[in-house]
Amino acid sequence: MHPSVPQPETRDPQIATALERAGRSPDSLLPVLQMLNRQRGGLSDATVRDVSRAMNVPAERVEGVATFYSLLSRPPQAGRTIRVCDGLTCWLNGATECRQALEQHAAERRGWRVTRSSCLGLCDRAPAALVEDRQCGPIAPDGAGDVVDGWTGAMPTYGDPLPGEARFTLARGRRIDPWSIDEALAAGAYSGLRTALSGSQGAVIEAIETAGLTGRGGAGFPTARKWRMVAEAPDGPRFVICNADESEPLTFKDRVLMESDPHAVLEGMAVCGYAVGAAEGIVYIRGEYEPQARLLEAAIGQAVERGWLGGRIAGSGFSFHVHVHRGAGAYICGEETALLESLEGRRGEPRIRPPYPAAHGFRGQPTVVNNVETLATAAAILAQGAEAWRATGLPEAPGTRLFTLQGHIRRSGLVELPCGLTLRQIIDTFGGGMRPGSRFQFALTGGAAGTFVSGDQLDVPLGPAARQAGIAIGSGGILVCDESVSPVAVLREALHFFEQESCGKCTPCRIGTAQARRTLDRLLSGDGDAGDLRRLDEFARLLRNASFCGLGTSAADPIRTARERFPDEFERLVSR
Ligand code: SF4
Repeated sequence: MHPSVPQPETRDPQIATALERAGRSPDSLLPVLQMLNRQRGGLSDATVRDVSRAMNVPAERVEGVATFYSLLSRPPQAGRTIRVCDGLTCWLNGATECRQALEQHAAERRGWRVTRSSCLGLCDRAPAALVEDRQCGPIAPDGAGDVVDGWTGAMPTYGDPLPGEARFTLARGRRIDPWSIDEALAAGAYSGLRTALSGSQGAVIEAIETAGLTGRGGAGFPTARKWRMVAEAPDGPRFVICNADESEPLTFKDRVLMESDPHAVLEGMAVCGYAVGAAEGIVYIRGEYEPQARLLEAAIGQAVERGWLGGRIAGSGFSFHVHVHRGAGAYICGEETALLESLEGRRGEPRIRPPYPAAHGFRGQPTVVNNVETLATAAAILAQGAEAWRATGLPEAPGTRLFTLQGHIRRSGLVELPCGLTLRQIIDTFGGGMRPGSRFQFALTGGAAGTFVSGDQLDVPLGPAARQAGIAIGSGGILVCDESVSPVAVLREALHFFEQESCGKCTPCRIGTAQARRTLDRLLSGDGDAGDLRRLDEFARLLRNASFCGLGTSAADPIRTARERFPDEFERLVSR
């Protein structure tokens, strides 16, 4: 870990314990604050001052971190917290009414407070809520009392593939007890790592290159190219980071992967670690995924016990240690350089690139940052072979990918599909078609930072042709809507999300997202005019051209595609 720095002593026993557990280096600032936040119901002026002294970190930095993350309360708040998701799917399923009911119920019972939350990654349980660490859903307005009393609702199961599904990455998922390494091993876990260890590091990267695996977090960067850059970096420490900060609205695939087959993710990290010469891996998991974080920690313990993680893995000369780092509520930390900032105990604000993390990442060292699905898929490719992966999908986009389907369809949920199916095939075959009596109007693909798709684009294959047609696949989230909801209203919710989650570092995004959302509010309330439409287009251009990072630039895409593909919906609002 980080070299120890002489620190002043603290007389505060809770701070002393937090430092003992999390470590005294400035990197540990976020976990230290998280522990104190939990114990004290938030972070007071005195806590900020005392932590600053105890860790020898400037008070402004402590204050900056304490006020950045939504799961930290600065100042402390009385009572336990219920966070009601206002992500797109929850909103569409009545989250607003549920929140009002919970607020009313909380007002009648002491000790609770209710607040909104950006997408909780529980879209398959929409409308969803987080009661302290407890994931609940689907909640209903008349079930407010049950939510407070400990009800959680049922977790959807994805054990049996639907006809036509191609389970590769998710092959074991929901077919084994995720708490049992014995079941995972019996089903083939760590056979990919065994294959990797039997060959050279270069051979592992070649296998991933032959497979043609690209990142599944949204950017689609070739995985082997990233691994090779780190493998070929000058000697010295290097790191593997699993980006489990899944926060894109409409997306919950990584959560399902982690909670159904945690060893697949750990195995993928170890395969990557071997390939690039790293000895340490970190899972950066969003703070709202506490049950999944605990499961991963248990899985790490089991894997170390069985010799699949830790020192001299499976009797080889390769050692690889993994630990879990919890985020504290910030969508932007899914951006890899913001994630690194957060991991180093700072506000999760993106860094200037270049240098890229592969050259200058965690603690300035070469670092692979890969998404959960990417790493789990890499393990499966090593286990089953690149040819097996290439046997499905398209030659130019081989393999499968996970999609999360939701909206006005008969069957929502997670599916693993061959690359290259059309949206129509996905909706009709795997979503069961539109709900009874309804007709397709539009889809939002690729998450909130994705694209609005019109009916005449339903037959575009979701591979390279989709990119040419201006259809985002992103992280695989798909919202399908019928004529009961306006694309302008959905766009407004997407912009509300970006406004809430903008890190505030650059003006175009901080102001642009807020102004665009206000413009949409005006239009939807009937107070807008033609000038608002021009302003909306201008905000999209500003976001696209002048934002510092991908959050701002990609916020332009839903605006642009909604305006281009549904002009009448906007015109109607200014001609009433
Ligand atoms: Fe932060 Fe938005 Fe600027 Fe990115 S574009 S740095 S999220 S303010």
